[in-house]
Amino acid sequence: MKNISQIMNLLEKKYSGKKRTTLNRMRTKPDSFKILISCLLSLQAKDEITEKITERLFEKIKTPIDLLKISDKELEKIIFSSGHYKKKTQTLKSVSNELIERFDGKVPRTKKELLSIKGIGPKTANIVLAFAFGVSVLPIDTNCHRVSNRLGFVKTKNPEETEKELEKALPKKYWKEFNGIMMLFGKEFCLPRTPKCDECFVNDYCDFNSKLTGQ
Ligand code: SF4
Repeated sequence: MKNISQIMNLLEKKYSGKKRTTLNRMRTKPDSFKILISCLLSLQAKDEITEKITERLFEKIKTPIDLLKISDKELEKIIFSSGHYKKKTQTLKSVSNELIERFDGKVPRTKKELLSIKGIGPKTANIVLAFAFGVSVLPIDTNCHRVSNRLGFVKTKNPEETEKELEKALPKKYWKEFNGIMMLFGKEFCLPRTPKCDECFVNDYCDFNSKLTGQ
């Protein structure tokens, strides 16, 4: 793949160091249940909100059993600002229930087992594997999918295809930080509707920008 390492080196340089997403920061002190719950809360929520809510919730709970002891009403109140709070409450409860009934209250360590739990999709499974258990996988969400396609890393239709293609195209040394870097880059420059291509520091390498400027 042309330029992929050059672009990744520039992105790593820009976003290395202190800036990290909530889930990335949790990796320094991995708690697999907390990472799983935080990931489920993060769906369609801002990173700052997810962090606050996760911390507030984990002041009250530590395990799936603790979570099931909280009433739906109280849980809805705690996670309200993450959006879709009613649906998320049900998901957190059913996931906790499955963890207790099928996995002795522990978060499983394989993708197959994680995906067998209702409410856990490929992105969440990969985030848990990567951030909680240090497995070398690529957690690809809609943001990673969009940015990877714009930059020309892949030409795919959905995050699942992107994951498969990136596994072939992206050198393994970039996998660990990829999701976190793309999250920050997607927020600062490569926004979904209004990418800041004029200010973007990798615009010389970008397929999307080349089409816009006709270069
Ligand atoms: S040039 Fe524009 S589309 Fe390309 S990566 Fe930068 S912000 Fe995204």
